[in-house]
Amino acid sequence: MRKKIVAGNWKMNKTFSEAETLITEIADSLDDVDLKDAEVILCPPSLYLEMTTDVAFESNFKVGAQNIYPEDAGAFTGEISPLMLKELNVAYCIIGHSERRKYFHETNEFLLRKVDSLLKHGLRPIFCCGEVLPEREASRHFEVVKSQVEESLFHLSAEAFLNVVIAYEPVWAIGTGVTATKEQAQEMHAYIRGLISARYDETTAWETSILYGGSCNGKNARELFSQPDVDGGLIGGASLNSVEFVQIATSF
Ligand code: PEP
Repeated sequence: MRKKIVAGNWKMNKTFSEAETLITEIADSLDDVDLKDAEVILCPPSLYLEMTTDVAFESNFKVGAQNIYPEDAGAFTGEISPLMLKELNVAYCIIGHSERRKYFHETNEFLLRKVDSLLKHGLRPIFCCGEVLPEREASRHFEVVKSQVEESLFHLSAEAFLNVVIAYEPVWAIGTGVTATKEQAQEMHAYIRGLISARYDETTAWETSILYGGSCNGKNARELFSQPDVDGGLIGGASLNSVEFVQIATSF
């Protein structure tokens, strides 16, 4: 059975003390709600990962990083490796976010290396894909997402692929307040599942969690998550507020 997942991407937000407060608030609230088997993942800045995994140890959520460098160790100033994250009990890592593709020029080929490096250490990639607005306007969105998924993920064996979570994040919806309609989200999620089925098999496609990301909030989460191929969300802005984030996490 594929998992329902809500992951919070804090990006580069919150001071240490603010992060401490938010983690505690989320952990306390999650104790009081019925998650109905959904998995909640917090992805804070790397500086706060240890504090977050400490709280997660006694709570109802998992922890993800926002980035890694695809080597175990070495002369890569400023970077962190999956080996380091593993020892901290970090279970997931966001890969291929549009902000990293745009500001840090990360290519599909480089993301393939990150995916392999994470899987080698037993961490699960949350692989982001999605088109920019001109690509959607030119009806190229399927083609763009297909290359992103194929070029970074389809070298994996079916067994390895089962550890990947996909997040469809139309770039025009990220941080804009413009959410994809439930029909647009469902259409792309079904398309991605079809790609997985064609490359691997129906079971692998059925087992893969495909999340939606892009201005998902407490008001629209339930409608989006009710779509048959939408298995939850990757949440940016709305994950910085404990009440709204927990509301989203209970929208299944
Ligand atoms: C994101 O950056 O992954 C994201 C989905 O952001 P937001 O929810 O703020 O649109």
